[in-house]
Amino acid sequence: NWFMSVTTAEARVDLGAISNNVDLLREQAGGAGVMAVVKADGYGHGIVPAARAAVAGGASWLGVATLDEAMTVRRAGLDTPAMCWLYTPGERFDDAIAAGVDLSATSVGQVAEITQAAARVGRQVRLHLKVDTGLSRSGATPADWPSVVDAALRAQADGLASVVGLWSHFACADEPGHPSIAAQLRVFDETIEVAEKAGVRPEVCHIANSAATLTLPEARYDLVRPGIAVYGLDPIPSLGLTRRLGLRPAMTLAARVAVAKRVGAGEGVSYGHRYVTSAETTLGLVPIGYADGVPRHGTNLLQVWAAGKRRRIAGTVCMDQFVIDVGDDGIQAGDEVVLFGPGDGGEPTAQDWAEMLGTISYEIVTRIGARIPRTYG
Ligand code: PLP
Repeated sequence: NWFMSVTTAEARVDLGAISNNVDLLREQAGGAGVMAVVKADGYGHGIVPAARAAVAGGASWLGVATLDEAMTVRRAGLDTPAMCWLYTPGERFDDAIAAGVDLSATSVGQVAEITQAAARVGRQVRLHLKVDTGLSRSGATPADWPSVVDAALRAQADGLASVVGLWSHFACADEPGHPSIAAQLRVFDETIEVAEKAGVRPEVCHIANSAATLTLPEARYDLVRPGIAVYGLDPIPSLGLTRRLGLRPAMTLAARVAVAKRVGAGEGVSYGHRYVTSAETTLGLVPIGYADGVPRHGTNLLQVWAAGKRRRIAGTVCMDQFVIDVGDDGIQAGDEVVLFGPGDGGEPTAQDWAEMLGTISYEIVTRIGARIPRTYG
């Protein structure tokens, strides 16, 4: 029972929701495979449990940013195809190649570094060549693309690499109709054609994040790469697509009141006395703070669910704690406070928090700190 397991604060992760979300995304993908993106500790949900749940829901691939993340997945015994895409010169690819991790390559130099590692390891590396179709992050420019393709094909001819993927990433897929979307797809198609004419026979072409998976059938190609929607959060909040499709937020952040006390009117609360009680009232101290991912910008702003209502945080969010003012509603040490969750019980969602703070739900769930235990159900 989750409720009984609360000690001070915890992030409860509904693994069934992750599996179900992936299953629904697979239906949406209309025949394309699903690469569940589990970087950043599974968007804060725990990389290994999230990856297992995603695979149980039908993800045929896993996506990670760093080599460390790739190795974490492999060391946990997950042998699902996995792609890794972000590194700096000098990083060692050997372990990832030995563990059968697919690697993105974005430049001639990177193809060389990766294939040298493949030669050392004595194992052919599976490469996904990345083209920058308009995000201006990593990826070969269309001008450099033929030389990257050529370097990869030479490594393939040497038996050191196998070019299995061609891929890119959208800049504005969360803004339906943004002109860059069609422009990026056009460049992607052109670069795929260049690679195929040069002799690449890709197993998978992929460009679609969650937003594109849900809104752009023409961007699905062979594989979609949803991240945020796997965790049941909306890539395009204004459209409310996740709820309509039945996706469910997987994380509930909850804590127990550490101290409850009656105070009089006119009492200053927390650092800086940015909140002052207006009448005799009950204050509850919630033992989770900005070190745990409750942003200090949430001072006098963020809402949480406590004693049967939404309550605004009273005063400054501290490193390890914040205060709520529940009036005469009655709260006691040990009572549960739900900071955010799926929203069914009236609690705010991570999306609500994002809107209150002027950010995106991605930042809310990924910033939950290491001190908060993740519990799974
Ligand atoms: N693919 C890549 C390369 C990414 O960096 C990300 C995350 O930003 C994703 C896919 C998933 O994006 P989203 O969480 O918007 O679905």
